[in-house]
Amino acid sequence: MAVTADERASLLDAVRELAQQRIAPLAAEIDREGRFPHEWVELMRENGVFALCFDEEYGGTGTGALLKLQAVEEISKVDATAGLLLAVQDLAAIPVRLAGTPEQRARYEPRWASGEVIAAYALTESEAGSDSAAMRTTAVRDGGHYVLNGAKRFITNAGVAGTYAVFAKTDPSAGHAGVSAFMVEADDPGFSVGRLEHKMGIRGSTTGELLFDDCRIPADRLLGREGDGFRLAMRVLDRSRPGIAAQALGLAQGAIDYALAYAQERHAFGKPIAAQQGIQFMLADMQTRTEAARLLLYRVGEMLDEGATAPSFTRYSAMCKLLCSDVAMDVTTDAVQILGGYGYIAEYPVERMMRDAKICQIYEGTNQIQRVVIARELLAGR
Ligand SMILES: Cc1cc2nc3c(=O)[nH]c(=O)nc-3n(C[C@H](O)[C@H](O)[C@H](O)COP(=O)(O)OP(=O)(O)OC[C@H]3O[C@@H](n4cnc5c(N)ncnc54)[C@H](O)[C@@H]3O)c2cc1C
Repeated sequence: MAVTADERASLLDAVRELAQQRIAPLAAEIDREGRFPHEWVELMRENGVFALCFDEEYGGTGTGALLKLQAVEEISKVDATAGLLLAVQDLAAIPVRLAGTPEQRARYEPRWASGEVIAAYALTESEAGSDSAAMRTTAVRDGGHYVLNGAKRFITNAGVAGTYAVFAKTDPSAGHAGVSAFMVEADDPGFSVGRLEHKMGIRGSTTGELLFDDCRIPADRLLGREGDGFRLAMRVLDRSRPGIAAQALGLAQGAIDYALAYAQERHAFGKPIAAQQGIQFMLADMQTRTEAARLLLYRVGEMLDEGATAPSFTRYSAMCKLLCSDVAMDVTTDAVQILGGYGYIAEYPVERMMRDAKICQIYEGTNQIQRVVIARELLAGR
């Protein structure tokens, strides 16, 4: 569906209202208790929010990438864990969208679009993070099945997801070319969830270990062809990194909005701190950098909607993730500074926002890895 400017605005207004009225009031509690926000999943299900990530043919709104990114941004303005629910539902669906057969797409996408099933994406292992091709999980063909053995680490939505896009070696001697992608379902025999991590930020999101102990899955759960998994994982990241950029951007804007209001109310030396040029300059820099990051992210959203492909898109995607997350870290830190001592205590949301911002510089490729990707494309002269 081609979405008009008015439709776009009204969809985003609806998401903003949900975020501000239904998500924001629980944000501090979810963070403090570090519990998964089942009520937000239900809220997003009831209001069709997950559908924003999917094509009409598979139960989605078909409204495209830019609108989805803007929705992640709106939600993350009030809570980054909630924004991540949407960003990861998209991330984990991309392998099936890119490499799935029509049957595979029909099996999974409508249930992800409705939110009936939560999805997860499992690439990282304890000895294979930035260097993901060093993974050790194996998948061996056995008649009409594959048998998976190994473990994944740091997987978002571990334990709450119904499906996991899992990367494993079908040919351990072949390096990158030995990686294949599979769909594993939560009730598959031999699959279990190990320990869940305690974290600095996005504390409502589960991050955990996946264990495969002779995990037997039907052979038709292979995505694409054997050996295509590494290339698929990289194509997925090209398309999912903007989601993390949107999460970061929402955090930055949410922190600015809070600090701006606070600076006009808080008095020191007989006047609002916002009357001090030192504070004004901080706010001006924060908004300028956030706006510049937003322009790059939205451009990347438009490129996705125009059907952009690698390699130049790879660079743009990495650049927007790098810029938005670095800006978010700086801006949320400055927001804490503007609140002074109050910024450092949990009663004020900028403390949570600063902790939440940090992960955006780490996951879906650390910001060093984004720079590696950007430099590689630049040096290749594309
Ligand atoms: C909360 C959370 C959620 C996550 N969710 C998921 C998920 O859903 N699915 C999933 O698959 N993974 C997930 N991850 C994993 C995440 O993507 C990895 O942690 C990340 O890619 C870094 O890998 P690593 O932790 O092994 O760090 P390492 O690869 O060990 O890196 C350590 C340091 O070395 C640097 N470094 C490494 N190589 C280079 C290089 N070539 N040049 C310069 N510097 C380098 C890194 O930037 C980093 O600073 C998650 C992680 C966290 C913490």
